[in-house]
Amino acid sequence: MADLKKIYEAIGPGDAHVLRGLLEVEGIDAVIRGDDMVPLQGGSLFHIETRPSVWVLDDDAVRTARAVEIAEEYAAGRRAPAVSAGAGGWRCRACGETIEDQFTACWNCGAERGSRS
Ligand SMILES: [Zn+2]
Repeated sequence: MADLKKIYEAIGPGDAHVLRGLLEVEGIDAVIRGDDMVPLQGGSLFHIETRPSVWVLDDDAVRTARAVEIAEEYAAGRRAPAVSAGAGGWRCRACGETIEDQFTACWNCGAERGSRS
């Protein structure tokens, strides 16, 4: 069996799941560890690091490198949250889909971009 490699330490469960979603889009299976409480034997329960981390299967160097790259890009974006504002695209008011900026109509439901209310 291949080993797992830790690529990202999240600030919370939602954070970890967002990154896992980004990895799945790229065809990379990711595992989230530490977002559920697992009591350890030996009484160290109160010292467990509860921040979840994201791991990938480390059996393909190219894929692992790509996963690390995605995690780094994601971490950079998290520190400077400019997502969904202006240049990053727009959100369809009819169905809520996020559309890239160069399109003037929603690819999902066909609604015109329209003006922001
Ligand atoms: Zn739409």
